[in-house]
Amino acid sequence: MSLSEVPPENQNSCCRTSRRDIIGAVAALAAAPAIGLVAGPVRAAEAPSGAAPTETITPDQALKEIMDGNARFIAGAPTAHTKDLAIIKARAAEGQWPIVGVLSCADSRVPVEMVFDEPIGRLFVTRVAGNITTPEIIASLEYGIAVLGIKAVVVMGHSNCGAIKAAMENPEVPGQISALFPAILPAVYMSGSDDPMVVTRQNAVIHAATLINSSPVVEAKVKARELKVVPAVYDVATGKVEMLPIPPAMRTTSK
Ligand SMILES: [Zn+2]
Repeated sequence: MSLSEVPPENQNSCCRTSRRDIIGAVAALAAAPAIGLVAGPVRAAEAPSGAAPTETITPDQALKEIMDGNARFIAGAPTAHTKDLAIIKARAAEGQWPIVGVLSCADSRVPVEMVFDEPIGRLFVTRVAGNITTPEIIASLEYGIAVLGIKAVVVMGHSNCGAIKAAMENPEVPGQISALFPAILPAVYMSGSDDPMVVTRQNAVIHAATLINSSPVVEAKVKARELKVVPAVYDVATGKVEMLPIPPAMRTTSK
């Protein structure tokens, strides 16, 4: 649907939507019947081959699944691509049942499904340069959590990140590229480092904490131990993902 096809009363609604509206919409979607993108209960027979059904998987099991996939990716023995076509033919049009959300940088060297060796339908991926928590990114992840039932969110920076380096150097840039910088600068100041990788790690931690602390949807699930939010960094030279802790002082919940 193009914007011209959107009823006038709905046009520009994104620009006037308040945080309360977003939360209300997510809550309404959570209460809606299972149609289209709205996920229903998952039976074992519907889950991707070799993967646990999302109705029973825990946050720790979800994170283990993707880290096992990263190990296969590094070892040069991925398997997910062998399942994709079968999943499309079997049930991709029926809905989605992802287990993990990922907030990744837009960098072309970070192919998220490949990195975690996950097939179609298993990861709910949001991407923006610098893997920063914009309102739209938070809203998307809230949808993944409240409606689709993902069990973990990985906020993943990466080595040699151009957005991080640009924010550190703060050069004259064309267009709206500089709009990324304010969200990355806290990592520059908090880390007190001129090493881009140190800043990248700090940036992933800050935006994982921001996702928890700024979203009642996320915070409630974390407190209930139904969701884990984990910062991480991806090494573009080795393919390895390293998960990072969030310091207790940076989060409103101790879970
Ligand atoms: Zn990047």
